[in-house]
Amino acid sequence: MKSLLAYLNPVAHLGNKRYSITFPFVATVFTSVILETVVKIIIGADIFGLIVIVVSIFSVIYFSFRDGVRAGVISTIIIIFYYAYIILTTPGTLNQKIVQWQTTAVLGLIYLLMAVIIGGLKQKIDTLIVQEADERRRLISIVQQLPVGIVITNAEGFMLTYNKKLEEIIGSKVPNDHIAGKHDASIKGIYKNKVVSPSNSPLSHALQSGKPVVNKEFLIERKDGKKIFISVSASPIHNKNGKIVAGVSITSDITAQKELELRKDDFVNMASHELKTPLTSMKLYLDILMSKIKNHNDDNAIKTLNSIKYQTDRLTELVNDLLDVSRLQTGKLIFNKEEFRLDMLVEENVGELSGITRSQKIVIAKKTPIKIYADKYRIYQVITNLITNAIKYSPAHTDIIVKIVKNNEMAVVSIQDSGIGISKEQQKKIFDRLYQVSDPHEKTFPGLGMGLYISKEILSRHNGKIWVESEKGKGSTFYFSLPLDKRSGN
Ligand code: ADP
Repeated sequence: MKSLLAYLNPVAHLGNKRYSITFPFVATVFTSVILETVVKIIIGADIFGLIVIVVSIFSVIYFSFRDGVRAGVISTIIIIFYYAYIILTTPGTLNQKIVQWQTTAVLGLIYLLMAVIIGGLKQKIDTLIVQEADERRRLISIVQQLPVGIVITNAEGFMLTYNKKLEEIIGSKVPNDHIAGKHDASIKGIYKNKVVSPSNSPLSHALQSGKPVVNKEFLIERKDGKKIFISVSASPIHNKNGKIVAGVSITSDITAQKELELRKDDFVNMASHELKTPLTSMKLYLDILMSKIKNHNDDNAIKTLNSIKYQTDRLTELVNDLLDVSRLQTGKLIFNKEEFRLDMLVEENVGELSGITRSQKIVIAKKTPIKIYADKYRIYQVITNLITNAIKYSPAHTDIIVKIVKNNEMAVVSIQDSGIGISKEQQKKIFDRLYQVSDPHEKTFPGLGMGLYISKEILSRHNGKIWVESEKGKGSTFYFSLPLDKRSGN
């Protein structure tokens, strides 16, 4: 019964491009026979004509809408033949006959027009529906093939689709009522160990802020007890008018990569520890050797030993930097904070570094007395790094200008050079771990790209900041800020 209704319901045939001509043919013939044999006898001749016209219009509309142009035309042809049969079998004057034939011709044309317009529209709608379905199928199969977990939601965060890879990554089935964002049932499955609540999920943020969220990392515990690292990016999808119509989130398993990073950090940590011990002994032996040689007044030997000492110091600095980077990575860098005068520390630092630069002049242009509460040794390290960079990356006989000022409850130190400068694009990256600007047209400088990363981390752990203003070829000014020490009445 249900399938008979579906067969007769023209709406159920939308999107179905198999157009029947047998059904409209048989059904119109059948309707004509019923009209002629049953209806005509029951109703009588008076309004029979009107009923025939109403039924004909209905048939043409119905068949065109159900089966397209051809069905509408076939129905029309049968109806015209039936009209002809009626005219030929009913008595009437010549004038009456002429009017009847003319009416039939006009009605026939109207029916044909209806068949073409309605049938044409129906076929167009079918094509669009089929295209849409193909498009959807293509999208779904692409989503299924992707090597990352995908969730697609509507603008409210209700799940529209997701792929098998997501279930593989999270190690459990995604529940049917899985919804992101405002609705709580949501991301629980994905962030099972409650690392992030649904309303804090990247997808929810992306949908609420209208901006993409890139590579948020989470540690999750799967149902099988395995802990994995995932990286989630999410983005809102806008329509032509900029309105959010959907959201997409991409989840990838980065456990292997994280484990490799951890192993690498462990290795760097171990290697730098191993290197430190022989270096310390070497320095000790060098000092003994130097004090012995001094008594022999051998200038050449002293010069050679000084060079060895310089290189050993550089090696020690590198090893210390490596150790710092690995301690930062593992959260093992410990700060011993105390109260001290930042301006005096900078002055001391400048005094010491002025000794090693013969060609540039380091000038303290502004010096405000400022007390801060921080790790003195680590802040000294930051200043040394910035001034040595200024020396390293600027030409001889130029000034390096240092300023210490107070600005909005912060102590700000600036170090300005007239050196090679840094392009806007590189400025974003120089504070990253192990990043060095490489320009084939520029002279290269020794270094491993650790100094600025270490400085940034030291400052951020003191609630401070580091930034740079620079123009390629015109020099750079590096700034860092630290909170004032409130207790000392700054
Ligand atoms: P490195 O050991 O290479 O100096 P840093 O982390 O201290 O490492 O600096 C990272 C990169 O930033 C450097 O390789 C250099 O290209 C750029 N840089 C740092 N300071 C300056 C500066 N004062 N002028 C121009 N470029 C600089």
